[in-house]
Amino acid sequence: TDDVVADGSTQIIPSATPAAGLAEIRANEVSAWFGDHKVLDRVSLTMPAGKVTSLIGPSGCGKSTFLRILNRMHEMIPSASLAGSVELDGEDIYDKSRKLTDARRAIGMVFQKPNPFPAMSIEENVLAGLKLTGTRIDKDARDELVESCLVKGGLWNEVKDRLDAPGGGLSGGQQQRLCIARSLAIKPRVLLMDEPCSALDPTSTRVIEETMLELAREVTIVIVTHNMQQAARVSSQCAFFLAAQGTPGVIVEHGDTDAMFDSPQDPRTSDYVNGRF
Ligand code: ADP
Ligand code: MG
Repeated sequence: TDDVVADGSTQIIPSATPAAGLAEIRANEVSAWFGDHKVLDRVSLTMPAGKVTSLIGPSGCGKSTFLRILNRMHEMIPSASLAGSVELDGEDIYDKSRKLTDARRAIGMVFQKPNPFPAMSIEENVLAGLKLTGTRIDKDARDELVESCLVKGGLWNEVKDRLDAPGGGLSGGQQQRLCIARSLAIKPRVLLMDEPCSALDPTSTRVIEETMLELAREVTIVIVTHNMQQAARVSSQCAFFLAAQGTPGVIVEHGDTDAMFDSPQDPRTSDYVNGRF
């Protein structure tokens, strides 16, 4: 959409662009290495549009690596390489003719440890992604964007009277919701969340879970979690990753979350979801 900025000129403001519609993200035969160490072996998974997909499995089986491959962060690690492809609504995000920033804009990431810019204000934190991409936006549109992102992040009511307070002054749970709001400001089509609640208390966790369920209406969510109850509460789809001793990670089983928890097909899935390893 074209928007009129303060000086009267018209320019494209991505933040004001209506959501491009829900997108499916799909990994095809993805393998990953760090140097000679193979950590994922031909992992294929479709994460459906507008759903929450949980990635579960023991530490070290490649969940975080898989998540980083989904938004091209893996290639930032010097020793890392990969094979296979990732498609966002059927388009290869690794296509040489596509810009890295396109993939990054479309596919946001929230990490385990909340990482707002501590000295920046709450408002500046929400707008940080736009700043980085050099997007100008007029004051009204900016206020609207800040509010809508904080509402979607489930933080608005707690901070609306102190938008210029530093992000670092918020509690851990609030900081994580600020990070969610920040990633929403660039209108991602997919939101990747790597153990977003494991550093948080149960109350904050609950608020973030509610936020996720709301968000799934407009953005496809992929979450890594070690909390089986959480996976059951938030996700309709689930994938169980496992790396047997000395072998790269694979998906042992995936599908409907309820089915996977109630009647796992593989004994290894059953052992994991029932806490036997
Ligand atoms: P998970 O998130 O399931 O715990 P990771 O994706 O973090 O698993 O790790 C998978 C494997 O890749 C592990 O053996 C880990 O040691 C290795 N690994 C992860 N990140 C790096 C890295 N930056 N350099 C080298 N090896 C790594
Ligand atoms: Mg991890």
